[in-house]
Amino acid sequence: MGIIESMRLDNKSIFVTGGARGIGKSVATAFCEAGANVAIVDMDIETAKTTAAWLNETTGADCIAIQADVTNPEQVDAMIAAVLAKYGKLDAAFCNAGICMNIPAEEMTFEQWKKVIDINLTGVFLTAQAAGKVMLKQGYGSIINTASMSAHIVNVPQPQCSYNASKAGVIQLTKSLAIEWAKRGVRVNCISPGYIGTDLTLSSESLKPLIEKWNAMAPMGRLGKPEELQSICVYLAGDTSSFTTGSDFVVDGAFTCF
Ligand code: NDP
Repeated sequence: MGIIESMRLDNKSIFVTGGARGIGKSVATAFCEAGANVAIVDMDIETAKTTAAWLNETTGADCIAIQADVTNPEQVDAMIAAVLAKYGKLDAAFCNAGICMNIPAEEMTFEQWKKVIDINLTGVFLTAQAAGKVMLKQGYGSIINTASMSAHIVNVPQPQCSYNASKAGVIQLTKSLAIEWAKRGVRVNCISPGYIGTDLTLSSESLKPLIEKWNAMAPMGRLGKPEELQSICVYLAGDTSSFTTGSDFVVDGAFTCF
C-alpha cells in the first residue's frame, strides 16, 4: 500500500469535542473524508446534530451527535459510553473544545479565570483521560489535543493571560500523557494553531478591529483557515504517525518565529 492510502482512516471511530463548528467541524470533516466515523461532541446539541447530519450526507460517514460539557466528568464518561455503544471501539480522540476571554489580569474575577482553565485545560485532561482509559484497554489509540500558538508566545495587544496559561498547560499535559502511555500503544500529541478564522476570532465585535493588527504582524499577512489544520490531524489520527507521540505541531504561518 502506498503512503497516501496508508494515511486513510477507514472504519476508525473518532470523537471530536467542540466538533459542532470551527476547527472541530473542519477536522471532523477531514476525518470523515478519510473514511472514519465521527462522534460530534459539543455543548450545543442542536448545532452538533446539524453538523453530524451534514457529515453523513456529504461524506457518507456514520456520524452521531453527543451533548457533553467537557468540564463535567460524568458527562464525559457518558459521552465515551455512547461512542463505544455506537462504534464498539475508539481509535482516536480530538480534544479540541476551548474558549478565550480577553480581560486585563488585574480585572479578572476568580470565576472568569476558572472558566477558561476548566474548559481549556481541565476539559482536555478529562476527555483525554477518559479516552486513554479505553485506549489502554484496547492497546491502541491516538489522542490529539488542541493547544495554541498562545502556549508559546503572549498574544498582543489583547489581554488573555488565562487562555495563554491554559494552552501552555495543554502542551505539558500532552507530553506527560505521552510518556505515561508510550509503551502501552496510546499516542498523545497536540496542535498549536496560529490565528484561525472561526467564530472564536471572527464573531466577537471586540476582536474584529484586532484582526488587521494581527495580519500586520503575521509573516503571511493573513489568518489561517480551519482547513489548513486538517492534514496534520488526519496524519496524527492514523497509523502512519506510529512513532509520533509527545509532539506539539505549530501551524501558524511562521507567526511565532520571531
Ligand atoms: P469555536 O468557538 O468556533 O468553537 C468551539 C466549540 O467548542 C464550540 O462549538 C463550543 O460550543 C464548544 N465548546 C465550548 N465550551 C465547551 C465545553 N465546555 N464542552 C464542550 N464543548 C464546548 O472555536 P475554534 O474552533 O476557533 O477553537 C477550537 C479550539 O482551537 C479551541 O480550543 C481554541 O482555543 C483553539 N484555537 C483556536 C484558534 C483560533 O484562532 N480560532 C487559534 C489557536 C487555538 P458552544 O457553541 O456551545 O459554545
